[in-house]
Amino acid sequence: MPLLNHPTSSETNPLDLIIVGAGFAGLYALQRALNSNRSAVVLERGGDVGGTWYWNRYPGARCDVQSMEYSYSFDEALQQNWSWTERYAAQPEILDYANHVADRFALRPHIRFDTLADSMTFLEDCSLWRTKTAKGDVFYSRFCIMATGCLSSTNLPDFEGRDDFKGEAYHTGNWPHEPVDFTGKRVGIIGTGSSSIQSIPIIAASCAHLTVFQRTPNYSIPAHNGPIDEDYVQAIKQQYGDFRALNQQMFAGFGAHQSRWDASVFDLDESGRTQRFEARWQEGGLGFSSSFSDTGSNLEANQIAAEFVRNKIRGTVTDPETAEQLCPDQVLGCKRVCVDTDYYETYNRANVDLVSVKDHPIERITPKGLITNGTQYDFDLLIFATGFDAMTGTLLKIDIQGRGGITLAEKWSAGPVTYLGLAIDGFPNFFTVSGPGSPSVLSNMIVTIEQHVNWIMDCLDTMQARQTATIEATETASSDWVKAGNAIAAGTLFPTCNSWYLGANVPGKPRIFMPYVGGFPSYVEICENVKREGYPGFVFSN
Ligand code: NAP
Repeated sequence: MPLLNHPTSSETNPLDLIIVGAGFAGLYALQRALNSNRSAVVLERGGDVGGTWYWNRYPGARCDVQSMEYSYSFDEALQQNWSWTERYAAQPEILDYANHVADRFALRPHIRFDTLADSMTFLEDCSLWRTKTAKGDVFYSRFCIMATGCLSSTNLPDFEGRDDFKGEAYHTGNWPHEPVDFTGKRVGIIGTGSSSIQSIPIIAASCAHLTVFQRTPNYSIPAHNGPIDEDYVQAIKQQYGDFRALNQQMFAGFGAHQSRWDASVFDLDESGRTQRFEARWQEGGLGFSSSFSDTGSNLEANQIAAEFVRNKIRGTVTDPETAEQLCPDQVLGCKRVCVDTDYYETYNRANVDLVSVKDHPIERITPKGLITNGTQYDFDLLIFATGFDAMTGTLLKIDIQGRGGITLAEKWSAGPVTYLGLAIDGFPNFFTVSGPGSPSVLSNMIVTIEQHVNWIMDCLDTMQARQTATIEATETASSDWVKAGNAIAAGTLFPTCNSWYLGANVPGKPRIFMPYVGGFPSYVEICENVKREGYPGFVFSN
């Protein structure tokens, strides 16, 4: 009998599933589990559902995938009933959506909030996982699904004197739930990634003065956000299934609404390609990166696209020195391209300064602010927009022990190794959702999440039918998967800069290109083949 809403479990009465995380992955995994009469408990360290969208409440937080695509497809009534108000949804609306889903599918009673999974141990004698929480609760389950998110452990660099600052200090990825008042304040912000680029225009508009500390400039494309076009919404809702199916054929699982263009940059002369870039710039958003077929793979083509963006920056920022400082020189797209509203325009405000810390790193944080290049900058409020220990950070914070007591930290000491981004050899019945080796952050996360969870649930059905106790990836299949992923990445321009995709933003982290870069459709085909062919690369045991 399923143990729906059962508060605890034991070795003789285990749950089917422990799910860690109540973001979009955890919510869908729970919905699927309950729908198939499987007992499940979700452990969530936050006080409510939403994952990324629960923690990232900084001003201007907004999704860079359009609303009609960044949503679940699994339930027709849900996708018909829910109404988005903007082309790109803002964090509060996405969080409302996550709450709506949790309530609509009666998921909350199965979620333990404010509950951190502390250790997870595979008990070989009974083939069960024992999960202990930081509160001391213990759960036994047959399976674990790690829905822990890719950008869920903040990266707070170890600046000298980091905790000495006496004013207000916040990290964008762990923003307070209460409103932060910038009125009349001198604000400093460290970092110029997506989080910073989204928040800078809003903070600048309400604070007395904003100083931006930039180590590496980023490419940012205007969102051209606005109220959602109701005709467009109705057109999609009339054939939402077809729209989803079209998106699933796209390399990143979204963008099917955009004009298709399979030509090379070199197929057009300079004026033709500028027109094409301009058209994509006017459409706005991440689609700019795929203005042509070869900007992601051919360095010369990429440099032409990059120069177009730099010229946009030069044409927007009135102070030439600031404009040049804002011009990135790395490969366009090798760090995730940002999507903004009035980012570059904000540097034309009299109350905003840009300070490069590229050649003069931040020397230390002081009680009043920070020092770089021998200059003390004073603030009332300091923001760390310094990113995340991406993809592996949260998993490695949990003491996870597989067969023979080997820990995940030991297993991944030279970098993450998974099979299909779903399973880890030596860790039976243990699944990751959108972890390393998955298209995850290079795709529409919700699309990938649904695909992963569906695959996992099909696998559990197969195991039930075959009456097998465990499934485990083989070492060979896992190392082959990593090698294949690395080989694809090596043929792209991704490995050319120090991005968080490579773990290069965290000192000491192994430099491995973590997401699967072969595209969502080919990834799905591989997963479907594995299922159809009886799970090669996995071993089952009774
Ligand atoms: P991020 O892209 O990793 O940016 C972190 C920033 O902090 C970088 O500019 C980095 O400089 C800087 N930094 C880190 N350590 C530093 C140090 N010691 N000294 C000076 N500067 C330092 O982080 P993020 O902006 O939070 O974005 C992370 C990811 O989250 C994005 O790439 C995106 O995938 C996702 N995100 C998405 C959205 C959206 O949907 N629109 C919004 C926000 C975030 P370097 O570049 O030199 O390392």
